[in-house]
Amino acid sequence: MPSERQVSLAEFQQHLNNLKMPRAINEVIVHHTWSPTAAQYRGIATVAGVRRYHMHVRGWSDNGYHVMIGPPGDLFLCRPIERTGAHCLGHNGRSVGVSFIANFDVENPAAYAGLEVGYRVVAALLGRFDLGTGAIHFHREFADKTCPGLRLDLTAFRQEVAKRTESAAGADLRIVLLPGSKEIACRARLEGEVTRADLRPLAEGLGYEVLDRIREEGKVYVRGVVGGGEWMAGSGWGISGEPERGRRSRARRRRDRAEVRHQAEEVRRDAEGLCRRCSRAVFPYADCAQPGAGDLLR
Ligand SMILES: [Zn+2]
Repeated sequence: MPSERQVSLAEFQQHLNNLKMPRAINEVIVHHTWSPTAAQYRGIATVAGVRRYHMHVRGWSDNGYHVMIGPPGDLFLCRPIERTGAHCLGHNGRSVGVSFIANFDVENPAAYAGLEVGYRVVAALLGRFDLGTGAIHFHREFADKTCPGLRLDLTAFRQEVAKRTESAAGADLRIVLLPGSKEIACRARLEGEVTRADLRPLAEGLGYEVLDRIREEGKVYVRGVVGGGEWMAGSGWGISGEPERGRRSRARRRRDRAEVRHQAEEVRRDAEGLCRRCSRAVFPYADCAQPGAGDLLR
């Protein structure tokens, strides 16, 4: 007999951990109910009402959604996740359907405590099925509807979920070098949609040499093929997976290019064992005015 069960987030996570899945999942699809609205919400009775509507009016075997979320953050397990849902035509077989009890065409998501629970539920689902935030979809991508409401933005939603994924909590992403599939542990993590990685192991994995001068100058120099003119330069913590094109002003970009040229020149002098200031031959990687500062290769 189909029914629904209210659970805590911890119980939801436990439930996911214990799932024996008979089907593969590659999408998490987000909905709103539209009707009932958040204002009409009356706890689990509302969830049961949606299930009865889906069963007796639509003629389905159970609630079409796997998970429903109420405005105060109440979380409900509905149709078993093991079973194919009935929430998004053409996508039910390999997805999980999560629905907010709300009408986000008009109701304000910022005043909806359940949104936070929704982010965490979706993050937990991504973790359980080993998916990235690109696997999060809004129903409206696949149907001529506004679902889950015009006041929700997919990119922002994905970013909020990313902040709540395990990798954002400090677990390593696996950076895989292609070709060859060599894996590098480099304290990479996802922040929003930007992949941040510790430069040293990543650059070394790519065959570059790293000169860590964070303490001295707040910079890390990354040296490529000596004499070949190939180099990269960065500062501190951050190779960005998605450069923020268009967000930097023209002046800022010019400054950045000048900075990179400056660093490249320093890297060139370092490579040739020249003092950065006077270009006299010194060894290794030091200004001749600063004897003893050369032991930077650890
Ligand atoms: Zn929908």
